[in-house]
Amino acid sequence: MKPFSHLNLSRPLLENLGKLGYETMTPVQEWTIPLLLKGKDVLARAKTGSGKTAAFAIGFLETMDGERYRVQALVLCPTRELSEQVAGEIRRLAAYRPNIKVLNITGGVPLERQEHSLSHQAHIVVGTPGRILKLLKRGSLVLEELKTLVLDEADRMLDMGFIDSVREIIGYAPARRQTLCFSATFPDDIRLLAGEIMKDPKEITVDALHTRGVIEQRFFLTEAEERGRAVINLIRTYKPESTVVFCNTKDACRRVQEELEQYRMHSLALHGDLEQKERNEVLIRFSNGSSPILVATDVAARGLDISGLSAVINYNLPFETETYIHRIGRTGRAGQAGLAFSLVKPGEQFRLDRINEMTGSDYAADPLDCTVPEDFPGLRPDMVTLSINGGRKNKISAGDILGALTRTGELRGEDVGKIDRLDFITFVAVKRAASGKALKILSRDNIKGRSFKALLHD
Ligand code: ADP
Ligand code: MG
Repeated sequence: MKPFSHLNLSRPLLENLGKLGYETMTPVQEWTIPLLLKGKDVLARAKTGSGKTAAFAIGFLETMDGERYRVQALVLCPTRELSEQVAGEIRRLAAYRPNIKVLNITGGVPLERQEHSLSHQAHIVVGTPGRILKLLKRGSLVLEELKTLVLDEADRMLDMGFIDSVREIIGYAPARRQTLCFSATFPDDIRLLAGEIMKDPKEITVDALHTRGVIEQRFFLTEAEERGRAVINLIRTYKPESTVVFCNTKDACRRVQEELEQYRMHSLALHGDLEQKERNEVLIRFSNGSSPILVATDVAARGLDISGLSAVINYNLPFETETYIHRIGRTGRAGQAGLAFSLVKPGEQFRLDRINEMTGSDYAADPLDCTVPEDFPGLRPDMVTLSINGGRKNKISAGDILGALTRTGELRGEDVGKIDRLDFITFVAVKRAASGKALKILSRDNIKGRSFKALLHD
């Protein structure tokens, strides 16, 4: 693994990478960044969690003209959550160039607000195809000076039926541009599209399928009605810090959650029935340690960077092997080892066979004891999440909140966990034991001369 300093990058960027804790390059970064800096078109196959965002962002950040307030890079993502995460990661990477503005443009937010932001100009726009196209048609997003176009998670984007929108968006971009396409798989429609929109693309494949070694995969033969208890026992035995349980349907999500609740195991659910606001909240609570388990469908969890995930459990084996690879790719990220467990119903051996065939492995489904001991105490997180109704746009910083919480000595620094700021709301993780005090302080004391409403999410 090579350090970033091997590349010809500016000193401030290298320093910023150091601050982010990025020392060595991931394989996809090592292979693509040199090509990107040369201005080549790149078609890269890499699994989720391989560090694609930094790969493409470093490429365009270094060559961007900060003085020209025009959109110079556009990143298309399949879902709102993913788009938000990519925009966040680009903001962190771009912190060494303070005048560079990054906008996240997705559905579910009033159009007028986005048009207002765009009227102040941005250098980088990240967004979902539907909303981006709408703004292009209205003339409020202009791509005349676009230098780099990125299709992130392109296979997912096409799966979701965005191909025509993507083509139409490209029609608004200058012909002389750099086009990058990142995808976990290369089905025919991706190759076809690449042929249409890219110039002499360099193809990079980074062990998309060879996940063994970093991720420990196990399969367990389980009767349908025992699967809930199987999940509980796997978590009880392996004690992963954070687990995503994948289900094929939202009904299954509901069943799993009920059963977990019955055994006093705290979990959160993420599925397509939730509104955008609720989904953001769930993800924030899961990633700040306020719940050890997230029960999710694929649609809701697509492409998400839930970092530091210790385990993935497939309550259902997915219909497609590619989905399996996507799911387990969320664990074992950036060099950390991860666990990937799958429950196989008696009639589902053929699905395991297909996974074996596609990944060149020979896993068998092992038996699993599904009796949960009577005295199992359950699983409660030691953090809870509070929110206040003020955020980035209210000029509230994480430091302001930490200051307010610890100023009076009622709370100590170590009682406070992750602080996530959105535009108009901030989520604060605090130790459960200190949550009462924290709630009182946040509703009582002014922050930056303003008082806010504080809520407990449990
Ligand atoms: P992908 O888009 O391929 O799924 P991301 O770009 O979201 O992956 O990166 C996955 C995680 O790895 C993120 O939390 C990111 O901050 C982290 N990461 C990326 N590159 C590096 C690196 N070189 N060193 C350490 N962590 C990294
Ligand atoms: Mg990504």
